[in-house]
Amino acid sequence: MGLKTVRKTQGNRPKHVPQRTCIACRQVAGKRALVRLVRTEQGVEVDPTGKRSGRGAYLHPYQECWQAALRSNRLEQALRTRISEANRQQLAAYMATLPLNAAADQAADEHHEVKSTAETHVSHPRP
Ligand SMILES: [Zn+2]
Repeated sequence: MGLKTVRKTQGNRPKHVPQRTCIACRQVAGKRALVRLVRTEQGVEVDPTGKRSGRGAYLHPYQECWQAALRSNRLEQALRTRISEANRQQLAAYMATLPLNAAADQAADEHHEVKSTAETHVSHPRP
């Protein structure tokens, strides 16, 4: 692993959004639209910055995809690791904070829409 050395070129970077595949539903999405999970010595953790080193896998920030990934052990396969029961529970706890699916997420966005333009924009930290 890690033999492919990707050189980081400063500047001169083509305007190209990195595309990643959700390991659950197999849909390709922009890297920022997905949550990265990284394999660490402590187990599998959510990587909100997307910058941690280690084998990573991507999932939509929706319970639907997480459930599928956890239930079918697709996450374990993608990360080539075993996920302990405690670790699984940590991931499940994170999953519980996510909207059920894209439709639920959009509905929530509409609901939270602020009418007043004077309001400061509440930024949604999207991993
Ligand atoms: Zn997905």
